Amino acid sequence: MRELLVRYIGRFAPSPTGPLHAGSLVAALASWLDARAHGGQWRVRIEDVDTPRCVPGADQIILQQLAACGLVPDAPVMWQSQRSVAYQAALDTLIAKGWAYPCGCSRKEIEDAQELMGHARERHTAAVYPGTCRDGLNGKVARAWRLNVQRVIADLKLATPLTWQDRLLGPQQQDVAQEVGDFVLRRADGLWAYQLTVVVDDAAQGITHIVRGADLTDNTARQIVLQHALGLPTPSYMHTPLVLGENGEKLSKQNGAEALDLSDPLLALKIAAQALSLNEPSKGASIDQALTKWTKVWLSVPR
Ligand code: GLU
Repeated sequence: MRELLVRYIGRFAPSPTGPLHAGSLVAALASWLDARAHGGQWRVRIEDVDTPRCVPGADQIILQQLAACGLVPDAPVMWQSQRSVAYQAALDTLIAKGWAYPCGCSRKEIEDAQELMGHARERHTAAVYPGTCRDGLNGKVARAWRLNVQRVIADLKLATPLTWQDRLLGPQQQDVAQEVGDFVLRRADGLWAYQLTVVVDDAAQGITHIVRGADLTDNTARQIVLQHALGLPTPSYMHTPLVLGENGEKLSKQNGAEALDLSDPLLALKIAAQALSLNEPSKGASIDQALTKWTKVWLSVPR
């Protein structure tokens, strides 16, 4: 009962790299249901800063797909491509505190430095930055901006490893300095990095609860460090199970996951609901009736 009194603003934040697929609908539905079950609001933010990966028109298709599934935001949609001023202000704040520095390393140089340090690079992970430019560019040309993770942690006396609680996965921890290193805030190609934009915008939209796919779990500690560095609140986090394709790999637009077939949005919703351990709605139920039923049971379904 107490949970229902909590002020709640949730969100779904798709990157418009293609239409929604079965996996992204699960994250959308989970965030919508969690907001409704808490009597809260639900926002949508189009994360269109990584322009080389964005597909023109995909944002509108995603919004139409959500609407066809009865998932309509309670406030105007935010587009990250219109938010550069806020991102620059956040970067300026970090620079003024001495917590961000320019980096002149190419990817190749980072990998070579890593090899010298004897670090093997694991599949699917960005190389841990060895800190080459932390104390100055040494004549190199500034390309990207990085967060000085060790300095933020030391200055703000943050715990190492950083611990946080996931509502579904339980206690989590990560030594951000060791396991991730000084991550990028603004990329060498001038584009804003996901970690910075997501933190700035979650705060700007007043997001209190984040519900998103489990593939993003590993980013959370970095985002919490940035929230502390920018003096922003840390929302509650919940990462939902991933829908795996037939090959056992995470479904994603990159590995050719099919766009949702919206000739039957209720069927698409039922499949997403199943991934969230929710039962079929009764025969003949409308989309609204199904959503209402799932909202009622959402907080009590064992996962
Ligand atoms: N835009 C990110 C993605 O589609 C999700 C960001 C988030 O939910 O934090 O992968």
